[in-house]
Amino acid sequence: MADIQGATPLEERLAETASQRWRLQWKELKAEVIDTGLCTGCAGCVIACPHDVIGYNHEQGGYRPFHLEDELGPDDCIHGQNGCTSCTRSCPRFRLWEGQADTHLNARVREDDELAGIYHDILLTRASDDTVNKMGQDGGLVSAILIWALEHDYIDAALTSFLEGDAGSWKPRPGVAATREQVLESAGSRYTYSANTLAIDEAIEAGFKRLALVGTSCQSSVPPVMWSRKVGKISKPFVFNLGLLCSKTFDDAIFEELFETKYGIRRDEIVKMNIKGVFQLWLKDGRYREINLKECHAWTREGCIYCPDFAAEHADISCGGIGENSDWTLTIVRTELGREIISRMIDDGTIESRPGDSDPGAIALMHKLAQNSRSRWPGFAEGSIRIGMPTRK
Ligand SMILES: Cc1cc2nc3c(=O)[nH]c(=O)nc-3n(C[C@H](O)[C@H](O)[C@H](O)COP(=O)(O)OP(=O)(O)OC[C@H]3O[C@@H](n4cnc5c(N)ncnc54)[C@H](O)[C@@H]3O)c2cc1C
Ligand code: SF4
Ligand code: SF4
Repeated sequence: MADIQGATPLEERLAETASQRWRLQWKELKAEVIDTGLCTGCAGCVIACPHDVIGYNHEQGGYRPFHLEDELGPDDCIHGQNGCTSCTRSCPRFRLWEGQADTHLNARVREDDELAGIYHDILLTRASDDTVNKMGQDGGLVSAILIWALEHDYIDAALTSFLEGDAGSWKPRPGVAATREQVLESAGSRYTYSANTLAIDEAIEAGFKRLALVGTSCQSSVPPVMWSRKVGKISKPFVFNLGLLCSKTFDDAIFEELFETKYGIRRDEIVKMNIKGVFQLWLKDGRYREINLKECHAWTREGCIYCPDFAAEHADISCGGIGENSDWTLTIVRTELGREIISRMIDDGTIESRPGDSDPGAIALMHKLAQNSRSRWPGFAEGSIRIGMPTRK
């Protein structure tokens, strides 16, 4: 609802926040995001800390940042007391994060009915190159874009997700892809958490200056939130942002505790997995198994429980596997840069595309899942994230 000057209450709050000095530090981040369960584990704060005093727990049940210095205990930071604010400036769950990132990217906040975020176009796309299409999770679009962007001098490297050890480990490892081979090595989806942002140090050490970030929705809000709150140097290498539609990730324990114990499927037998209404598993010996998603819920990673963003609303391009054909990627084009890259790739034949409207069921499902995720945002947290949602009973 607009006031007499035409600004909505959210716009007024954003303007007021922008006019004030940002003094918020680890103390507020810990109390408002980490201790409340809003933290997704995206590691934005970890990579932003100029004093390297934020660690990251990679262990099962972890995926959380923690403070490494003892001086003021785990809840406060001496650098924060002395004026450092980088961690709160980087956190895409802290206070007005959505409105700030929206305004930075689009010069406006989302409308009530834009529950899946602001976008230009929705397409279905797939890599024309058979190898890329086959190695990709859905249409291989993400990998096709990365290869194309490397070859056309848009980026020097991409932060993606590899696997620890051999393919049968199914333990994701954030890493750097700077060649076609590395992009293809990291193709496909793993449904446990991979904080790809953490690979930025490796990329910078290798001398790469222009980076694409591939990440689940929570991670794809990191660069726009950093830019909107002017975090500075660490945000500069991010030049391209590819988001993955995401409704949840699972704890690694799902492999032993559910797949193996109940269904006798060892992790090293699995060659591919996907989620399409059920958890789909393809095994080495050619067998295919489906597991009811309801059974998997108990292994939902804690950081996903309150996550309101299904559609990677702050990416340049958001990619998902919803659709009637499994080898196409649902492609949400959100920014001018995203538009430029997709249209050049269509024009030169790198990808094939169809209008999103050719699969109306996919679009309807995308909106439904976006609403479902947004409904998870808790009542104690920033209210503007729920704009457009039915009022809580
Ligand atoms: C955890 C997770 C949950 C998802 N949930 C949904 C969903 O509910 N609905 C939906 O429509 N789509 C979902 N997706 C997106 C979908 O699985 C595909 O990633 C997307 O359609 C792109 O397919 P592609 O063939 O174009 O990508 P590809 O060319 O296969 O590229 C995929 C990219 O994702 C990276 N990646 C793989 N696993 C992870 C991970 N765990 N974390 C971060 N990066 C990773 C790879 O390194 C690679 O760069 C999810 C993806 C992930 C990783
Ligand atoms: S949501 Fe991300 S940036 Fe915020 S506290 Fe958690 S790990 Fe840090
Ligand atoms: S549901 Fe997906 S996007 Fe949301 S916190 Fe979990 S991993 Fe991140």
